[in-house]
Amino acid sequence: MTAYSAPLKDMAFVLNRVLDLKGVSALPGYEAAEPALVEQVLEEANRLARDVLAPLNAPGDRAGSRIENGVVRTPDGFKAAYGQFTQGGWNGVPFDPDYGGQGLPWLVQQALAEMWQSANMSFGLCPLLTQGAIELLHAHGTDAQKALYLPRMIAGEWTGTMNLTEPQAGSDVGAVKTRALPEGDHYRITGQKIYITYGDHDWTDNVIHMVLARLPDAPEGTKGISLFLVPKFLVNPDGSLGERNDLRPVSLEHKLGINASPTCVMAYGDNGGAIGYLVGGENRGMECMFTMMNNARLAVGTQGLSIAERAYQQALDYAKTRIQSRDASGSAKGDGAPVAIIRHPDVRRMLMSMKAGIEAMRGLSYLAAWALDHSKRNPDDGERARAQRLIDLLTPIVKGWCTDLGIEIASTGVQVHGGMGFIEETGAAQHYRDARILPIYEGTNGIQANDLVGRKIVRDEAASMHELLAEMAGTLDVLRQQPGDDMEVVARALEDGIDALELATGWLMATFPEDRALALAGASYYLKLCGIVIGGWMVARGALAALNGLSAGGEDAGFLEAKLVTARFYAEHYLPQATGLLAAMVEGGQSTLALDETQF
Ligand SMILES: Cc1cc2nc3c(=O)[nH]c(=O)nc-3n(C[C@H](O)[C@H](O)[C@H](O)COP(=O)(O)OP(=O)(O)OC[C@H]3O[C@@H](n4cnc5c(N)ncnc54)[C@H](O)[C@@H]3O)c2cc1C
Repeated sequence: MTAYSAPLKDMAFVLNRVLDLKGVSALPGYEAAEPALVEQVLEEANRLARDVLAPLNAPGDRAGSRIENGVVRTPDGFKAAYGQFTQGGWNGVPFDPDYGGQGLPWLVQQALAEMWQSANMSFGLCPLLTQGAIELLHAHGTDAQKALYLPRMIAGEWTGTMNLTEPQAGSDVGAVKTRALPEGDHYRITGQKIYITYGDHDWTDNVIHMVLARLPDAPEGTKGISLFLVPKFLVNPDGSLGERNDLRPVSLEHKLGINASPTCVMAYGDNGGAIGYLVGGENRGMECMFTMMNNARLAVGTQGLSIAERAYQQALDYAKTRIQSRDASGSAKGDGAPVAIIRHPDVRRMLMSMKAGIEAMRGLSYLAAWALDHSKRNPDDGERARAQRLIDLLTPIVKGWCTDLGIEIASTGVQVHGGMGFIEETGAAQHYRDARILPIYEGTNGIQANDLVGRKIVRDEAASMHELLAEMAGTLDVLRQQPGDDMEVVARALEDGIDALELATGWLMATFPEDRALALAGASYYLKLCGIVIGGWMVARGALAALNGLSAGGEDAGFLEAKLVTARFYAEHYLPQATGLLAAMVEGGQSTLALDETQF
């Protein structure tokens, strides 16, 4: 089993040379995020990720979480690791210092999240959800709710969950049936929720559930959903724990992956109704839950990047040590000893496709975090609004593209191992199994594609996409002025990609109002096209940053030259897919719509 260690140099490259962490640390309130300090923070985090969380990943998968007499037990070592995580202050990094957070930028949190999720995705899911619940409460809670719950959730003393799904309400959240009856200053919640991640566990004394439910007179669909804070143990005004609330984990799901993460069926109100507190106003539940969902969508996209990085480290290590077959150039003569498989062109192709995809995902997901920081803290109203448009646009792309590609890369990782990839001991198979949930939860990727097309492109009249296309065109101009064959190839491929994205966007704008179903038939192709081109733009920005670094001189030449190689590989192997996706979207939609049930 290969160890994990965070790719600190690659992370620092994106933070400092591609995305201007210094500029983020100049935003009001982020002054502490000096690049030198951030470097130390990341090194410290890597010690926890590498030495504590990563070694628990495989044993956690084998043992799984289990439920005994109504109590959920996580695998050995997880509770203690969580203790180290919270004692180190890692749970509170991006949050409001008024409630005990450290107030560091989301860009820094992004690099940390990448580590936690690479090291141990099952572990990382709990803080991921707590983080979303904190954001939700911070944005929509009353002052009293914030004062009572936020400090403990930010410290990690209590964790948070997201309760949307019911048997009849998956993608169609509007079908939620859980009921909420008003009773004095609170409500009584009754119903069943399924697939609730860390719905119960043995890490903390309390669990704070964010639950969607319906009032008796509520309108149908999403307009009639309200959001309730439902604690496992009721909380006294001084913050101490009171009675056990009327909710319980009924069972745990048996899953394909993320086995250490308890996925609970939850029963609310078996004995008269769980006490819940309204957050954000009656029938405003979806609006409030979207704060948590948007946060979680970016975080789940990051899980796609993280699992890919973990799979890559493992595959690279194996490829360097597994000896098999003679070198292709020597074999024609029939001489030469067998070599490490990394010498074979097809293995190099696999490894490089992993590496290039990872760098594109890292660029894209860190860009989203950068935009989040500017949307919150940029002193200029116009810049804040522009950053908000960018983050809105990028959210479904990060979630959808990074998770699909995460699976693909984890699968390539298995392939690099040959038969040993299919055998559990190496760990390559676990990454592939763990990755498989990512395009499903937090809104399937089909739902992300619908969101991208309907809400982020058409409703916005493609304004944010046009802003982004204009920025990409600016990078293209700079690229064209660079000397050398490599940059010429990158510029040409990026230009073709941008053209394809522009045409696809125009086609959507023209088609959606006339024939919504036809536009949505191509939505997943469009999302992938966005990911490939915007990811390619970030890789190209990396190449420009590397060229700048090389011309300035310094000790990093090998590292920086490798960025140019990756950019060329991405340009030749990923970006050409853009034109095919455009064709599939524009020309393939009619044949998709013509299908009926008899054809299957
Ligand atoms: C391990 C795990 C953990 C989870 N954690 C949580 C959690 O913590 N909290 C929580 O609330 N939920 C959680 N979920 C639930 C998860 O978010 C849902 O499974 C997911 O949203 C899909 O819903 P569904 O399973 O009902 O699939 P369905 O909605 O039945 O979808 C089936 C298929 O139909 C497609 N489809 C459905 N509607 C449309 C449409 N309008 N357009 C195009 N395609 C469509 C989907 O994309 C999918 O391919 C978890 C699930 C799992 C498996």
